[in-house]
Amino acid sequence: MTLDLRIGLGFDLHRLAPGRPCILGGIELPHDAGPVGHSDGDAVLHAVADAVLGAAGLDDLGTLFPDTDPNGEGADSRALLASCWGRVREAGWALGNLDVVIATEGPRIAPHRAAMRASIAALLEGQPEQVNVKGKSLEGMGALAGGAGVAVQVVALLRRA
Ligand code: MG
Repeated sequence: MTLDLRIGLGFDLHRLAPGRPCILGGIELPHDAGPVGHSDGDAVLHAVADAVLGAAGLDDLGTLFPDTDPNGEGADSRALLASCWGRVREAGWALGNLDVVIATEGPRIAPHRAAMRASIAALLEGQPEQVNVKGKSLEGMGALAGGAGVAVQVVALLRRA
């Protein structure tokens, strides 16, 4: 079976800790806490990477860049995503569109949606119109409430280049 369209789903979550730079979607948000991780903790770009890799049938971010690799310590997730996207492109795929949901009660997402769309689109050689970003409150529920963490879901559509 040959399909000219492929869909992928990405999910990631990270704790937010005081004093960490709040890097999400490849940009730094003004907030007093940021995602904890082996890399810079950019849960948005990690979920984007898993969505596009998943759509292309190319494994996942954690397999390509294990968090046990000392070389990945403090890694810039923009470089990780660019590398993943290179594999997707080489496999013959181009970006259709992405839809990104960021659930957190830490940083405010709404004022930075446009910058995030541009940042993510540039990393995927697309246009901001192909990338939608929205923030969601957690309604004060669960372990991530009160700014303790951030969870991200991404659905990606790829088309044959
Ligand atoms: Mg992650």
